[in-house]
Amino acid sequence: MEFAALAERAERVAANDGDIETTLAVAALLADAGAADGPDGGEDDSAEGDESADDLPVVVRFLLGRVFPAHDTRTLDVGPALCREAIARAAGQNVSAADVEDRLAERGEIGAVAAAYDFGGQRGLAAFGSGRDALTVAELDAELRDLAAASGEGSESRKRDALFGLFTRCSPSEAAFLARLVLGEMRLGVGEGTVRDAVAEAFLVRDGEPESADVDSGEAFEPDAAELAAPEDAVAAVERALQVTNDYGRVAVRARDEGRAGLRAESLRVGRPVQAMLAQAGTATDAVDAFGEVAVETKFDGARVQVHYEPDGDAPDGDAPDAGGGDGDDALGPRLYSRNMDDVTEALPEIVEHVAERVDAPVILDGEVVAVDDEGDPLPFQEVLRRFRRKHDVDRMREAVSLRFHAFDCLHADGDDLLDRSLRERHDRLRGVLPDAAADLTLADDPEAIAAEERAALDAGHEGVMLKNPEAAYTPGDRGRDWLKRKPDVETLDAVVVGAEWGEGRRAELFGTFLLAVRAEDDARDAPDRDAADRDDDLAPAGYATVGKVATGITDEALADLTERLEPHVVDETGTTVAFDPELVVEVGYEEIQTSPTYSAGYALRFPRFVGVREDKGVDDADSLARVRRLAGDE
Ligand code: AMP
Repeated sequence: MEFAALAERAERVAANDGDIETTLAVAALLADAGAADGPDGGEDDSAEGDESADDLPVVVRFLLGRVFPAHDTRTLDVGPALCREAIARAAGQNVSAADVEDRLAERGEIGAVAAAYDFGGQRGLAAFGSGRDALTVAELDAELRDLAAASGEGSESRKRDALFGLFTRCSPSEAAFLARLVLGEMRLGVGEGTVRDAVAEAFLVRDGEPESADVDSGEAFEPDAAELAAPEDAVAAVERALQVTNDYGRVAVRARDEGRAGLRAESLRVGRPVQAMLAQAGTATDAVDAFGEVAVETKFDGARVQVHYEPDGDAPDGDAPDAGGGDGDDALGPRLYSRNMDDVTEALPEIVEHVAERVDAPVILDGEVVAVDDEGDPLPFQEVLRRFRRKHDVDRMREAVSLRFHAFDCLHADGDDLLDRSLRERHDRLRGVLPDAAADLTLADDPEAIAAEERAALDAGHEGVMLKNPEAAYTPGDRGRDWLKRKPDVETLDAVVVGAEWGEGRRAELFGTFLLAVRAEDDARDAPDRDAADRDDDLAPAGYATVGKVATGITDEALADLTERLEPHVVDETGTTVAFDPELVVEVGYEEIQTSPTYSAGYALRFPRFVGVREDKGVDDADSLARVRRLAGDE
């Protein structure tokens, strides 16, 4: 396929304004690209090869603004400045990079800027395939792959030269496409979901959906109705293949050549990272309501790492970990990938060693790397960052910042792909392959038990807990409701301490539980509920409404401090219960706010947790009942 044809078709795709029209237009483009000079059946490893004559995988990647598949750690590494310089040179002697920059400021987008220059009089020639110097999609792909391979001294100027050479051969629409492609900003309105749907539409619905390589390359795809024909399960088949391969080009080729059977045959491969499964925010109550039994894990505050290891990989000799430098291209030893699928193996040698020493079967593991102190206690996230992408001084930094790997999932073990298995089963396999790094998973079916796990995780210095559906599959790239992250401090409340109870036993000299109130004097509606206020446990002074009691999260030191500061303000004492003049404002975290007859506000904080004293706030700055209503979702 000529690049000019692709660039023009892409412009037409971008001009569509409906999702369905866009999907149909992309499907038609893929069908044409796949038919033009596709292979005549058989071997399809072309999806990964560099010199393939098959345009389909290239067109698919280009539409998504990529030269390499997402799992491939190679990048073009062409920045906006380099691109502007190449455009300026191609545009002629009296155009400088600064001119390009000015136009960019005006137009706001590099493609439009590139299209507005006349590159060396080539305009029009290439576009109509005169044969003279016309770029083909395959040629452009090969050139960009060469450009990506340039490294070391002088590589920047070689890249600039290569890009300049390409621009001089571009028509306006080609130039716009090329500029956007090298910067990864296609602006076609074609996202991954569109390409997924278009692949299903182009290759899985015609002729009763081909089960094998029988798409006649002469047959043109004609989207004639403005509606999609691909059934949901065809889209799901494409989606699954995308999840395991992480390669849109490869999946398109499979769908075209082998239909659904080909897609089903796709599997995970050690060394080819997949997208990480993600989490939504949620509460313990949400989790119990949704899952019944909840898998509770510590939420580690570190950096996500996917570990790929094939102990007896086809590497020439043995399984020595390739941790310390080298070219990094061979698959010796464990490979580690970041959440964005960058290869971070060389920055984390101790994790590599840890895995290599213990794992004796092929695995793909998911987990979190955290920085730890000498006692093995977690350090803040920033500390991990000092290690994570480091290319130099790795050994020195290894001395300065210790790391620990917590594995929480197992996607592949010893020949078995586990994505479709339940978390329970995956976790069992995880414990089997790497017991000493496997994160603990506790099953709980009530919010109190989950709150206890959360307190334990927080006390141990971690970020919170993850609440997972124990029956759920691993869905790469999906931010679904099967994983909930429960972090405290999402929203806190600044409340006034209006009462307390003396502690017991060792803490009898100190207050233990504190009664919290918010301001309720704002308007008539804020008048506290007097029935509740008559209760024994409501000691709120006029103008305040109680919302709960806090006893959690207070260190011995803080308890002593609070006792000392509050004792002079006691105005009433009954048994072990005291009332205070409103004086002190404290910040409290909580899981949620519920309506409740127990406190005069008519609301109660669930699982309140002491965060600290708001030294900067007086009681008049404390939160109001109106804010509590808002936080509860009632206003
Ligand atoms: P957030 O970054 O706040 O969206 O939280 C999600 C992230 O928490 C994940 O991407 C992981 O990097 C991290 N995480 C920490 N512990 C776990 C765990 N036990 N399970 C899943 N993700 C975890």
